[in-house]
Amino acid sequence: MSIEGHSTAPWANVIAEHYCCVAGCARWGSLGFSESKTVDTRWWCAEHYPYWEEIKSRSNSK
Ligand SMILES: [Zn+2]
Repeated sequence: MSIEGHSTAPWANVIAEHYCCVAGCARWGSLGFSESKTVDTRWWCAEHYPYWEEIKSRSNSK
């Protein structure tokens, strides 16, 4: 059993940069959404995030 060492730093798997996917918006995309595990996560800033209602309905219903 080998030791992974420095490559297992907790931040190694964090996506380094993901900005809002809306064209012309240069804000940081702090909110991500992926329809499934096979779909790449897209990112939006809070202002452009289109899934607020979906989040609300998910958290309320289940
Ligand atoms: Zn935006």
